[in-house]
Amino acid sequence: MQTTTPAGDDVEVESLPDAPLSNVTILTGAMARADRARWAEYASCANLGNDAWFNGRPTKRLREACEACPVHNTCLAYALCNEATLAGCRAGFWAGTLPGARDALARGRSASDLAMSLCDALVEDGLIRTPQRHQSAS
Ligand code: SF4
Repeated sequence: MQTTTPAGDDVEVESLPDAPLSNVTILTGAMARADRARWAEYASCANLGNDAWFNGRPTKRLREACEACPVHNTCLAYALCNEATLAGCRAGFWAGTLPGARDALARGRSASDLAMSLCDALVEDGLIRTPQRHQSAS
């Protein structure tokens, strides 16, 4: 299974069962909105290369980039949505967090909640003006 880094590079991650389709639809809708806002173009880490995310522990440069990143909120919310579509498969260093920390942040949250958080993050980072609310999965 593949996922995408903030720099837009595709990387392989462990394959796990898919999340329910209704949840995937909600999550990918929010992620598509973030992609349309071109959030990754503002990433401080855009030129650091994949090793910075997926080489075990994050580098000092990546930690510093995250601390100063103008799309930090969006990056974290996007990672939580993306990883929820992978049925809990978490990999890499996103927005200053390792997989275990993101697992704790996502635990018990619905797809709708994660999607709304991503829309709120887009507003907080100045990428869109108004959040778009998503319907709960039935
Ligand atoms: S918060 Fe960190 S990992 Fe996320 S886009 Fe910014 S620099 Fe990259």
